[in-house]
Amino acid sequence: MTQKISQPVDAVLFFDECVSNLEDCTDGCRANKNILCKHRFSFRSHVISGRDISRGLSDFRVLLRFIHLIRRNKLPITISPSAEFILVTRDKRFLRSAAKQAKTKERCLLDFDPEHKRVSWGDTTISILLIRCKNTPGSVPVDLRCIIRELNEHFR
Ligand SMILES: [Zn+2]
Repeated sequence: MTQKISQPVDAVLFFDECVSNLEDCTDGCRANKNILCKHRFSFRSHVISGRDISRGLSDFRVLLRFIHLIRRNKLPITISPSAEFILVTRDKRFLRSAAKQAKTKERCLLDFDPEHKRVSWGDTTISILLIRCKNTPGSVPVDLRCIIRELNEHFR
């Protein structure tokens, strides 16, 4: 059993491979606005980098990976009962292509709700959040500031 951090989080964010990683937390990052880590969010979050664990997977598999982490209680955090699970992507076709891939699986337990941009498995629901931040090579901070702004707007 992993040791859990006791402060419950409001959101678990899974960054799709195409979304830049936030900067790592450092000593004093909470007070330093120039460090673009998860502490720039206006809500308590746990961020999972899809780059690290889902490289090369299909969109459908990425969703499954995220849902498994939640349902198998593999996250090193306490999740508040009202917490949101959000897959953050830049890919406009993410949900459509994941739903299409799911159709080819015989025993797919995922329930797709394209209208509300949600996917459920039992009582676990993931929202798909499309961010409009441009990936600007060489100027990552611009990109990260946009990602932080869009997520803060979502939680306002
Ligand atoms: Zn931090």
